[in-house]
Amino acid sequence: KSKTELKGSTTFYHHQLNEELQYKYLLENKLKDALSNQQIFVLYQPQIDATTEKIVAVEALARWGHPTLGTISPTDFIGIAEEIGLIKPIGLFVFTQACKDILSISPNGPNAIKVSINISPNQLMSADFIESMTQITDEIGIQRCRITLEITENVMLNELGKTYNILTELKKRNFCISLDDFGTGFSSLSYLNMLPFDELKIDSCFINNITVNEQSKTLVKSILAISDAYKMITVAEGVERKEQLILLQSLGCHLIQGFYFDKPLTLAQLQKKLPKTQS
Ligand code: C2E
Ligand code: MG
Ligand code: MG
Ligand code: MG
Repeated sequence: KSKTELKGSTTFYHHQLNEELQYKYLLENKLKDALSNQQIFVLYQPQIDATTEKIVAVEALARWGHPTLGTISPTDFIGIAEEIGLIKPIGLFVFTQACKDILSISPNGPNAIKVSINISPNQLMSADFIESMTQITDEIGIQRCRITLEITENVMLNELGKTYNILTELKKRNFCISLDDFGTGFSSLSYLNMLPFDELKIDSCFINNITVNEQSKTLVKSILAISDAYKMITVAEGVERKEQLILLQSLGCHLIQGFYFDKPLTLAQLQKKLPKTQS
């Protein structure tokens, strides 16, 4: 490459970095008012029982609908919310909305669908987390055994003892606990030994090439074996193709989540997909 070309690309790089930073500042500023302006909303992505191929649960996924910026993905605003201290109110809003929404379309009972809710590390570690989640579910009247709290591996990094205490107390109160994005963080298999997970979510990066790459398949098989040994439910994330579904079914994976069945849906779209006899 010529010198001028290189110089050009560096300038471009700086320019791009600068733009990204500016966009981040812009989001930071606007995020402060997102909740009070009722711009945060929740979509629900079905989780399908691999055997019956029926919807048995959903994952609540936050969205930020801004009047001029459009719909902003949680990968763009959850991190910012953590940084500027907004994750607690946003998390509380998503949790409350999800409990109300799911109870409204699926009453408590034997055919009730479950709902998984993503919990950020700061949220989980905050002093009143257990009490406020318990109070909200009591007030709304949704059975806590219908609620799965999804946490990621990075939550356990520092305060393993504290995490153990929190998760154990949540389980005493009947919440289910899921380990999200398994295998992508600073995971240690010993966490599975120490912490009371009910469910393990295999990250989509392992599912992506499961049908073309023998190593990926072996890895997923091993994860399923571990999960089985610990009597955990296994969810495959990011299932987009029929071949992936068939393979995961043959390997004994319990739940399937991904675009092959559904993208994240509005509550109304979800309701249409549930059998009428359920409500
Ligand atoms: P996650 O918890 O691992 O959620 C799964 C993500 O994968 C979702 O992205 C979902 O839309 C996407 N996905 C599902 N199936 C497929 C598929 O077949 N193909 C592809 N390409 N993608 C698929 P989304 O909704 O953008 O959320 C991204 C992440 O943001 C979530 O990852 C979660 O970590 C975080 N997040 C979302 N909502 C919340 C929330 O309310 N609170 C917190 N703390 N984090 C949240
Ligand atoms: Mg999740
Ligand atoms: Mg995940
Ligand atoms: Mg993920």
